[in-house]
Amino acid sequence: MNDFAAPCLPVVGSDTLVPLVDGRQVTYANLDCAASAPALTVVADRVNQILPLYASVHRGAGYLSQVSTALYEESRQTIGRFVGARGDDVTIITRNTTDSLNLLAGCVPAEHGKPGKVLVLDVEHHANLLPWKAAVGGATVLYGGASVAETLDLLRTELARESYSLVAATGASNVTGESLPVADLVAIAHAAGARVVLDGAQLVPHRRFSLEETGVDYVAFSGHKTYAPFGAGALVGRRDWLDQGTPYLAGGGAVRQVTVDEVFWTNAPARHEAGSPNVIGAAALASACEALAALPEGALEAHENLLRARLVEGLESIDGIRIVRAWEDAVNPVGVVTFAVRDCDPGLVAAYLSAEHGIGVRDGRFCAHPLLNRLGFDSGAIRASVGVGTTIAEVDRLIHALRVWVAEGV
Ligand code: PLP
Repeated sequence: MNDFAAPCLPVVGSDTLVPLVDGRQVTYANLDCAASAPALTVVADRVNQILPLYASVHRGAGYLSQVSTALYEESRQTIGRFVGARGDDVTIITRNTTDSLNLLAGCVPAEHGKPGKVLVLDVEHHANLLPWKAAVGGATVLYGGASVAETLDLLRTELARESYSLVAATGASNVTGESLPVADLVAIAHAAGARVVLDGAQLVPHRRFSLEETGVDYVAFSGHKTYAPFGAGALVGRRDWLDQGTPYLAGGGAVRQVTVDEVFWTNAPARHEAGSPNVIGAAALASACEALAALPEGALEAHENLLRARLVEGLESIDGIRIVRAWEDAVNPVGVVTFAVRDCDPGLVAAYLSAEHGIGVRDGRFCAHPLLNRLGFDSGAIRASVGVGTTIAEVDRLIHALRVWVAEGV
């Protein structure tokens, strides 16, 4: 075994803390990172350190309130830096990717007196589909092509046919791990006068990403997929829309002045962060961002590419297993692999993996019904996904368990 047999970064539940169920080792979290990734041990340590200290943010002159406010604002800076925020970009602390994209949907401005429209593909997670459909200007949902090249052409043609304010695209699919080349996407959208938002839920935890280097206008992501606990995520991007858009939540902290008759909203980020801020969540996410950013260049990608290759090779070696792929020419997919076992209910296979082998995977349609339906997996599939804490031994256990299932013809 080579160096990548070990985790790239330690996560809670690994090493001495591996939980046992009926005396067997359990791989509940490390093969289901696309759903929620286990927290890094440094994140757990950080949360334990600050838990006794927190107080209300932006709302008090007391010492602990000042400490918490400073911690919250430093965390915001760290999170923005992690995704290469430009000097004038805003980082809004949200609850998760879904929250971030809904927030942005309320900020798409009107153009030439008409509500701004959003262009999106059918490959998206519902979080990057439904907010745009519900937005004032609505969305056009395009069927993706069979290849990246064909899909880019479809986007180019649609952007020439009609005016759009925003193109919303996946940074990496939660079904296939695939993505469109970001440089092409940005060039095509910007040439047509549209901005680009990336759903970074499966991208940001698994690849180095920079708004500044790519020219992407907005990125959204979730803490619980970035090795931090639930409850904090982020939307990072261009200030103008966020300063003018509809405040995401109405309430304290989002205003400059309130009278009985009028409300004067403040600018972003506070404009969209009404209510007491989640300082522990923000600090936990910032701590995960710091740990990922401190990895040597290329280490994250190399670790996950090796695991993905092993997973794909193992799955392809089993008769009757079919891997879900959206684009035959996709390059550099992240470590998310979805597959179906011939004539088997995905839910039964997932239950068997859990009950008999202590392996947790996701089954179903992954909040991506249009894509699964188009690709012919309308009764669902099974998804295994790796992360910094996953080992080759865990991938091999999954492959072994699936071989047993197929061999026994369960
Ligand atoms: N986008 C993608 C690609 C995802 O995989 C997910 C979650 O699975 C989401 C968005 C929604 O993330 P959250 O539930 O954290 O808001």
